[in-house]
Amino acid sequence: MQVFLLLLGAVGALSLPFDDEGIFNTNTCGYESCHKPKPGMLNVHIVPHTHDDVGWLKTVDQYYYGSRNNIQKAGVQYILDSVIRELWEDQKRRFIYVETAFFWKWWVRQPVKVQAAVRDLVSQGRLQFVGGAWSMNDEAAAHYHSTIDQFTWGLSKLNKTFGACGVPRVGWQIDPFGHSREFASLLAMMGYDGLFLGRIDYQDKVNRLKQKTMEMVWRGDDTLGKSSDIFTGVLHNTYSPPPGFCFDVLCNDEPIVDDPESPIYNVESKIATFVELCANYAKSYRTNNILITMGEDFNYQDAGMWFNNLDKLIDYTNIKSAKEQLNITLFYSTPDCYLKAIKDANPQLPLKKDDFFPYASDPTAFWTGYFTSRPTTKYFERESNNYLQMVKQLQVLADLDKHNEFVLNELKSAMGVMQHHDAITGTEKQHVTHDYERLLNQAVDDAMIITKQALNKITQKDANKPPLFDFKRCHLNESRCDISENNDKFIVTIYNPLAWTVKEPIRIPVTDANYQVFGPDGKEIETQAIKIAKAVTDIPTRISTATKELLFITEIKALTYKSFYIKKSTKTKRSNHFEYFTNINEYFDSIKDNFETEKDNFETEKDILKPIEPIVLPTVEYKSINLDVLKDASNFKELDSLDKFLKGYKHDAKVSRMRVQYPKMNEDEMRMLADEPRTVERFDDEVSFENQYFKLDANKATGEIQQISFPDGSRLNLTINMYYYPGCPGRNSGPSDRASGAYIFRPNATVPTKLTIVKTEVANGDLATEFRSYLNPNGYLNTKIYKNLDFVENEFVVGPIPIHDGVGKEYIIKYETNIVNNGEFYTDSNGRQMIKRKLNYRPDWNVTLAEPIAGNYYPVTNEISIQNDDVKMTVLTDRSEGGSSIVEGEIELMVHRRLLWDDAFGVGEPLNETAMGSGLVVRGKHRVLIKNVKANTKKHVFQLHMPVHVLFSDATNIKYDEWLKLNNDFSFIDKDLPNGVHLLTLEPFDDRLLIRFENYLDDSEVQVNLGSIFKGLTVKNVKETMLAANIWADDYNKWSWNNDSVEKVDKIEGFVVKLKAKQIRTFVVDYDVKK
Ligand SMILES: [Zn+2]
Repeated sequence: MQVFLLLLGAVGALSLPFDDEGIFNTNTCGYESCHKPKPGMLNVHIVPHTHDDVGWLKTVDQYYYGSRNNIQKAGVQYILDSVIRELWEDQKRRFIYVETAFFWKWWVRQPVKVQAAVRDLVSQGRLQFVGGAWSMNDEAAAHYHSTIDQFTWGLSKLNKTFGACGVPRVGWQIDPFGHSREFASLLAMMGYDGLFLGRIDYQDKVNRLKQKTMEMVWRGDDTLGKSSDIFTGVLHNTYSPPPGFCFDVLCNDEPIVDDPESPIYNVESKIATFVELCANYAKSYRTNNILITMGEDFNYQDAGMWFNNLDKLIDYTNIKSAKEQLNITLFYSTPDCYLKAIKDANPQLPLKKDDFFPYASDPTAFWTGYFTSRPTTKYFERESNNYLQMVKQLQVLADLDKHNEFVLNELKSAMGVMQHHDAITGTEKQHVTHDYERLLNQAVDDAMIITKQALNKITQKDANKPPLFDFKRCHLNESRCDISENNDKFIVTIYNPLAWTVKEPIRIPVTDANYQVFGPDGKEIETQAIKIAKAVTDIPTRISTATKELLFITEIKALTYKSFYIKKSTKTKRSNHFEYFTNINEYFDSIKDNFETEKDNFETEKDILKPIEPIVLPTVEYKSINLDVLKDASNFKELDSLDKFLKGYKHDAKVSRMRVQYPKMNEDEMRMLADEPRTVERFDDEVSFENQYFKLDANKATGEIQQISFPDGSRLNLTINMYYYPGCPGRNSGPSDRASGAYIFRPNATVPTKLTIVKTEVANGDLATEFRSYLNPNGYLNTKIYKNLDFVENEFVVGPIPIHDGVGKEYIIKYETNIVNNGEFYTDSNGRQMIKRKLNYRPDWNVTLAEPIAGNYYPVTNEISIQNDDVKMTVLTDRSEGGSSIVEGEIELMVHRRLLWDDAFGVGEPLNETAMGSGLVVRGKHRVLIKNVKANTKKHVFQLHMPVHVLFSDATNIKYDEWLKLNNDFSFIDKDLPNGVHLLTLEPFDDRLLIRFENYLDDSEVQVNLGSIFKGLTVKNVKETMLAANIWADDYNKWSWNNDSVEKVDKIEGFVVKLKAKQIRTFVVDYDVKK
């Protein structure tokens, strides 16, 4: 792998350098190279394209090489080979390519002669790149951090290889299942001129077709305003050719037979059909231009078939038009050229401000299941992003050798693949999931070399000394770690990738209760040993001897690493360092009787999380039909009838609205809250856990948490419960027979089934209190509060989801309160802006919902909240999930799904993940914040999105005294960045740096001095680029629409960067390393 990467690097270095002269120097490519539309005629832009999924039914390599053609006849290498030959044949022809992951794989394997021909085609605009990111990313589960990275990575390849002519101008999101507002904002910040979409909700589409609002100006962000505007066009027929005009080797449509002597001659009828179809398309658009997509999934393996027929279609139609004065003209075009024609026509366009979620393709097909599908892959992707950010930072900050960038690039590529709309979404086949995980795991492992080099170099204050430690990562999500389990002495190193100080609980899996933990200064720090719950030790994939977690809470400064020396202690600690109670009544008794010994009844507990025997799944013949009615324009009649069907199908969500004011506390209670933190008080029927921020009360009869109260006397009902929706079975013969599957969420009930509490446990100590409930069937919740931390952490373990009853299940966690939110809630858009949601409502059209639950689900990439005039409850997620507020005062998040039926959107498998012979078990966490409605909680969001890294080293060969002499606490910057400033990116960019700052505040400008942030670097020169480092900011001219004015972008003065509210600014920085 590494040898091959060397090759890649060499090719990149030989091609055009990324420099001030090279990159934005235009040739005859771009808008100049377009075939010109004719005034007064209907201009039909024929756009040949292929849609090449970076993994779906086959793996990335299977698709590239055309392996396993029994699964799907698809080989990307043949597509590119064939298209290039056909483009070369005829100057008029055009083609677009989208996925740089595939293009690059192909490019580096071409002989110089082919590369030269491709350069020519690109420089003449005959081959154009659209989108141009590493993959066509998903827009629900993908985080903006990774989206920006994968654009930067893909575009850098195009920039370096083709210069200005390789710069894509339009976004091409033709297959993702719904579209986010934040993505539109990101594209605008990258300087794209327009965006094309394939899939929008079918009701929305019917309206837009009727109202000619298929094209619009989309405002990406209210705070950023006009600067986030981007032209957005919805394609008429997703990305497919019109019915009857698919000329691919994979299609069965009739070719154009132009020999009049032939008995199958069909020119007249073909042209007549096509002209009629164009006239029909044109009815829904505002200018005299229409875009016809000529391509499908993995089309153009034999490009000659397509081009031969398109040549004829164009020529014969134009001849007929001239002869019969039809006022229609056809020509080869691209999305760029179509966009330019629209721009020149200058139509009045409607303004859109919300997003395109959720996406429904018919009344029962809400594509809201994939927000949660494959939760462990979604977590691994999130974790790997954080890992990528750390190694990028360390590569720069520790000034490591340039050749490390090969492993950095491997990880960038793997993360780019993971953003694909069949990767992070979980909508791929099972064997493809395994391949994605293999790819990512390998890349993360390889990149570990950077961490090892950087930390060894700084720890020893000398780059030339041999490495002292072998820093390793552990599976902390399963509470397991070889090093801490098997050594009496070890070192834990923590790195904070954020540019501000954080305070975090650290949990080390161990086999004993007695350890001493020494901080970097040699002082022993406070710890608490907590028994690992049986729900965790029973996870089938967990291979570990650890029985306890050693908890400590540490404060760690910005961009800092800190090491802790941990050794097994011979002395026994005070018994009240950890207390276990197998149910809450025992806990209650212990307080009453001042009972102070460790109780441990775990072993005798009935094994409720025992894996379930694999069962035989129902035999189903999976139809290969594609139920997506929007994929075929001939189905629009069906759409109309669906519309009518819906009008008579008024079915609203059953919402029980509680109107409860939360009671004030009495004086005694107020006084109690003023006591020292960590005291435990009891009421007649409840027990309480508290720190200085809040107090949680649990009902000892039911074992449920009941309310949370605050020092100001306010309190809120709060219960946390797990439920499941039974997944709908179905053979997918039509909308009424739809199954819940990898894409689609279709619960078979409007009220979920509540899991019952089997037993509760309390683990109580000086640093944390955990309130654990074991739930039936196969659920576990652990609500934790920590000393000095202002959030409630809610850990969950789900699975194996039982299916012995033949019913697939979708597990949710509900946070139930008495907040009156009037059916309104907020979800984040790709982890950045928040979007207001309203139950059973769409801002742009009158929605009719046949699916009251699934139709109200939205993607939650980072956070979901409900609020009233005073209080806001936010739940933060550690991965992307689907969520909603179906019932007043509640937030629900779907955390795991196991289903027995395919939903017939192509994947052909039920979403039934297993591991070690039973259903996959998922462990994760939410953090719950209950704050004043005006409080900015963004720092909490970042802290869960980019948590501190915890690395482990064996300390057998190093004595504590020697360790103390090392550099164990080192900050790469002098102080925290100012409030409001997030260091989004710090990475090597050839011999320069790429730095992004983000202002995460909604309402105020902030500034930061780039020249004086990093201790070891001297900043020499700073130049601003657009968001993906794709266009110099100075060279960018934003297009305006509706004759609107365009705001001029601020210039940077010296090294002082001013950031308007919500602004992200990107800089390429020349620097020296201070020696
Ligand atoms: Zn796709």
